[in-house]
Amino acid sequence: MIRFRVRLRTVSFLTVGGGVPEVMGADVVHVRKKVVDGDGARDVIYIPGSSVKGVLRTNASRLAASYGFTSCNAIEPQRIDEAHRSMNGVCDVCRLFGRPGRGPEDWSRVFVSDFTSEDADKRRMVVTRVSLDDSTLTARKGALYSIEHVLPGTEFSGEVRIEEGDDVKVLLPLLLLAIAELRLSGLGRGGLVDAKVEDGNRLDRLVGDEWRALLEGLRSWFWEGWLGS
Ligand SMILES: [Zn+2]
Repeated sequence: MIRFRVRLRTVSFLTVGGGVPEVMGADVVHVRKKVVDGDGARDVIYIPGSSVKGVLRTNASRLAASYGFTSCNAIEPQRIDEAHRSMNGVCDVCRLFGRPGRGPEDWSRVFVSDFTSEDADKRRMVVTRVSLDDSTLTARKGALYSIEHVLPGTEFSGEVRIEEGDDVKVLLPLLLLAIAELRLSGLGRGGLVDAKVEDGNRLDRLVGDEWRALLEGLRSWFWEGWLGS
């Protein structure tokens, strides 16, 4: 298993889910959980690993063809099987991120931990908004609700693991491309983030010359200097 850290730094405001009305959509990726430690129970803001992994998979599917990788672009198990049959094999995205199946060969090769933050709890603000009637876009009487945001410049950190196997050298660049894409496409409607890989140079031996610049670029922040951060 090859492990490395990924740090995410908010560039825009990010919305914290939990108690947020439907109008915000399903892709609010920050949530709260209760943590019990020496000081008692408290709420912490984190980004679930499953959310990050889902975004990475979407990014990989979208980018795959442009960079010479294959993607079935399917979500339904039956459609995935059909697409793979017509492609004469399992696509690169499914090989990396897994697919619904029966055996270990279908399991994901990538594991993404939850992303936690040292200071997100102190770097948040609550905004009260007026709920709009969807059909007329007018304010509904008495329909106020509060949304919590994490301020720009807040950092989250998590661990990504990829199983070492014969094809890791083929699939790792697709994972790195998907991480790099986070910097441009963000976390869904959740907001824009910067991303940085901290691998202690462990990935050097696994990345061919053609992907060296990508890996080097991922080792420093992308947005730093552009937005006064
Ligand atoms: Zn596939």
